[in-house]
Amino acid sequence: MAAGTDLHAYGELTAACTRCRLAEGRTQVVFGSGDPDADLMFVGEAPGFHEDKQGVPFVGQAGKLLERLLEGIGLGRSDVYIANVLKCRPPGNRDPQPDEIEACEPHLFRQIELIEPRVVATLGNFATKLLSGRPLGITRVHGQEQEITLGARNVLLYPIYHPAAALYTPAMLKVLESDFARIPALLTGATPAAPASAAPVFEPVPEPSPAAPAVQLGLF
Ligand code: SF4
Repeated sequence: MAAGTDLHAYGELTAACTRCRLAEGRTQVVFGSGDPDADLMFVGEAPGFHEDKQGVPFVGQAGKLLERLLEGIGLGRSDVYIANVLKCRPPGNRDPQPDEIEACEPHLFRQIELIEPRVVATLGNFATKLLSGRPLGITRVHGQEQEITLGARNVLLYPIYHPAAALYTPAMLKVLESDFARIPALLTGATPAAPASAAPVFEPVPEPSPAAPAVQLGLF
């Protein structure tokens, strides 16, 4: 519960953050939501249109699919913590700039220190490359856990596709389901090898970029 109090207090502080230019165009800071003591934390890229308006990460169609995938492994939104690398919406959902990432990174690392998750699941290319510190894209590394230090915390990094990818490429849903199916074992410390089906069985599909139609639907 102490973690919850501290996280709440840190969220209130962050609500007034002006460390980077994204403070100018935002409706509000989208800090994160869910269980402050969660063992499983999801990290996406940045708030989109609806997130910026509602102040909650992963609302809209991608958020609904994330909830369905969670239900498939017996979890709900309130069992996990969901956040983004950037807490404010980039204008027009453009790509985050390096100085914005650098400015906002301490917020994410502090969240991780306070929540103390065992598994940090990165959603999509951007969060995966940033947190893994490796240039490998999501097509190469999805479904493969990696011990890593984030902030002051050792966690199991678990890259998965952004749920929005399955909205545009239905075959991706099977891959997402397969990668989600391994999460319960990762949470309990049993880490069986990735199933063969976790390997890409199709030509790499570019993740929907913030400039793709997803933007119009407000999925990011
Ligand atoms: S994006 Fe992050 S660093 Fe920039 S103003 Fe928002 S909370 Fe602060």
